Amino acid sequence: MKKIIFMLTTLFLLAACTGKKAETQPVAADDGIDSTFQYKVDRFADIEILRYPVPGFNSLSLQQKELIYYLSQAALEGRDILWDQHNRYNLTIRRVCEGVYENYMGDKSSEDWKNFETYLKQIWMASGIHHHYSEDKIIPKFTKDYFVTIVKSVDPGRMPFRDGMAADETLNEIVPVMFDPNIMPKRMNQAPGVDIVKTSAVNFYEGVTQKEVEDFYNAMKNPNDSTPISYGLNSKVVKADGAVAEQVWKLGGMYDKAIARIIGWLEKAAGVAENDAQKDVINTLIEYYKTGNLKTFDDYSIKWVKDDSRVDFVNGFIETYTDPLGMKATWESIVNFKNEEATKRTKIISDNAQWFEDNSPIEQRFKKSEVKGVTAKVITAAILGGDCYPATPIGINLPNANWIRRDHGSKSVTIENITYAYDKAAEGNGFNEEFMWSDAERDLSKKYGSLTDNLHTDLHECLGHGSGKLLPGVDGDALKAYGSPLEETRADLFALYYLADPKLVELGLVPDADAYKSEYYKYIMNGAMTQLTRIQPGKNIEQAHMRNRALIANWVIENGKADSVVVMKQRDGKTYVVINDYAKLRDLFGKLLAEVQRIKSEGDYEAGKKLVETHGVKVDPKLHQEVLTRYEALNLAPYKGFVNPVYKLVTGEDGKVTDVTISYDENYVNQQLRYSRQYSVLPLKN
Ligand code: ZN
Repeated sequence: MKKIIFMLTTLFLLAACTGKKAETQPVAADDGIDSTFQYKVDRFADIEILRYPVPGFNSLSLQQKELIYYLSQAALEGRDILWDQHNRYNLTIRRVCEGVYENYMGDKSSEDWKNFETYLKQIWMASGIHHHYSEDKIIPKFTKDYFVTIVKSVDPGRMPFRDGMAADETLNEIVPVMFDPNIMPKRMNQAPGVDIVKTSAVNFYEGVTQKEVEDFYNAMKNPNDSTPISYGLNSKVVKADGAVAEQVWKLGGMYDKAIARIIGWLEKAAGVAENDAQKDVINTLIEYYKTGNLKTFDDYSIKWVKDDSRVDFVNGFIETYTDPLGMKATWESIVNFKNEEATKRTKIISDNAQWFEDNSPIEQRFKKSEVKGVTAKVITAAILGGDCYPATPIGINLPNANWIRRDHGSKSVTIENITYAYDKAAEGNGFNEEFMWSDAERDLSKKYGSLTDNLHTDLHECLGHGSGKLLPGVDGDALKAYGSPLEETRADLFALYYLADPKLVELGLVPDADAYKSEYYKYIMNGAMTQLTRIQPGKNIEQAHMRNRALIANWVIENGKADSVVVMKQRDGKTYVVINDYAKLRDLFGKLLAEVQRIKSEGDYEAGKKLVETHGVKVDPKLHQEVLTRYEALNLAPYKGFVNPVYKLVTGEDGKVTDVTISYDENYVNQQLRYSRQYSVLPLKN
């Protein structure tokens, strides 16, 4: 039995490319965020790099700003940990490429060089050589020979052949990994019938089989423990002297040097914490980094859930999406502060959590009689690090340990300055004109798109994941690999169902009873059609959130067929989603929610598998090609990443901090290169 992970969520924005218009967001002029703010930073391959504003930063107290500064340093120090976790050759490849990029004296106008530059930008975006989203290896568009030539042309003294490796030796090691499509083709492999540990390129396991790892952890677990430790969360599994063993990520263990730096900044942060509770949170996290003790991590998580300070942060080994076995967590960090105005919206939702649970369309026996600890807030991100950078979530719901969520609740956040930046960058990009059926849908989107999108995220994160319960004796991991997409399906359906509820008008969350239609249309269009822009021709849908969206869209189309609730219509050789009956569509969402809840509550693996495999995996190749062609003509990037702002400490003559400034002038290349100089203390091999 492997660990239960699936409740938790980092919700990735798939709506980034819908071109919906944002409502105005109040930003103070003294924040330097006005109509000249540059949201777009760079564009290459399938990526667009954006910049996010941090409204309100300048209005924080000096102490809060200083706290954010230290936490932001701690957030950046973990960058190389993630790179190494993704693949054990990543740091070598990046450093060699950066060495060439900064020191090459030859022709920089050639096609080869441009392709090399693009490759470097791509691996920066993915924190490694595998695509951040598809997880397929990024194959360079320049040749092996070209690469070897430019590497060798650079003065070796300027190259990062650390650890005493010579150029040839290094090249012999990394060239096959970079160029051979058969070597480490997938960061995480989930294909059925193979050893997913041995065939995944992530650096969580080395020299061990899937069975050995499973046996290793099964022996540790006590199935009757009601507050189980998250075994395996912070370690790599290896063979040592023929026996399976863990290398723990902690001070004095694996990733020692980076973790020491993180601790150093956290200690400074503790010195300017807003209150004693927050100081205790930070100190407990430091203790965990020093010992690697997962029990301490649970203590930290419980304290963190309860801390409601204005400034907040995540820093550690958190999400397990990248591990084929769902146990090992990638390193991430996000530092933020509460957006007090927008938090009023999520507070209304939280305050009514029990009403939503009681009125949910699921069977009575699956409902929670008491919904606990639903806290929610809207935050402003101040820095993104590790697995939150450059691609970032728009909502977070933590901690991940199910028993902590059960006994202590969870913290749910919506990151509004990120969604705002997406909206601003997408203005007028032609997407809605191409894919929406008519002006009616486009007008809905213009009028309500931003609001209902945020509300969908709020409902998904604040209430969706936390609603419902398992029947006694049901293994939380019974749905295995299908658990993750089904959990996202459940949370999304909960949000969709309630978006159309008159209760939302009554609570003042939406202006009228039509607002939800905007989100309904966009959701189905995305799930059934436009998200296919993220899939390469001939490939299936793999990513959990995409599977969930396809599942919902395709299921309602199929099950509403008799009444033509939602249909795919042709016009001028193009396919469109047309919703004929919004009210009936809501009923279908409710029906599917009831079924997905039943599957989860009863641990009905076979039914869950069938649902996902039937509606959430396969792609109609004809429609896929059409969508790709139409999308390509718009010349939009399907994936977005972000650069961070730059914070600087200002000190007086006595060395005391007098201010922290924020600026937005660093571009993508300079930021990545600076991070590689400033926050890169790990050896090539860890
Ligand atoms: Zn979710």
